[in-house]
Amino acid sequence: MLRILSFLLIFCVTTVAVAANDVFVPVYLTTATGQGKLIGSVHITQTDYGLLFEPTLHGLTPGLHDFDIHENASCDHYGQAAGGDLDPFHTNKHLGPYNSHGHLGDLPKLYVASDGTANFSVLAPRILDLTELKNRTLIIDANKKGDEESRIACGVIAS
Ligand SMILES: [Zn+2]
Repeated sequence: MLRILSFLLIFCVTTVAVAANDVFVPVYLTTATGQGKLIGSVHITQTDYGLLFEPTLHGLTPGLHDFDIHENASCDHYGQAAGGDLDPFHTNKHLGPYNSHGHLGDLPKLYVASDGTANFSVLAPRILDLTELKNRTLIIDANKKGDEESRIACGVIAS
């Protein structure tokens, strides 16, 4: 029941939130064909300090996960169709969220609690305008050693 209610809530908010300074991004597990199971959403809000990402997610492995904005609006082929990290200044460097010489899409890590839920917000101080993220994707990587590159969850940021 709770799952149905949260799905309806995501649906309503996504439909209503037009031309606002925030967006809800539904997040799905990745599969070979694209969209797997819905595991919640991330609410992105434009603030005076950069974009704020507020996750309401479940079904993830506990610990810290890489969390990034990728270039293309597709989650196909286990998230590989999303392309590389968002890099409008062509730095070709993955330097994390606080270094202006690297990918703009590098976000602070996502913390997943022992019950598999993620509810701690992160702030991306270098991304000031939500319009930079339209038609991009939000990707959550696996956190197992030696498996850092695998994209386990993905959500397309609506235009
Ligand atoms: Zn990067």
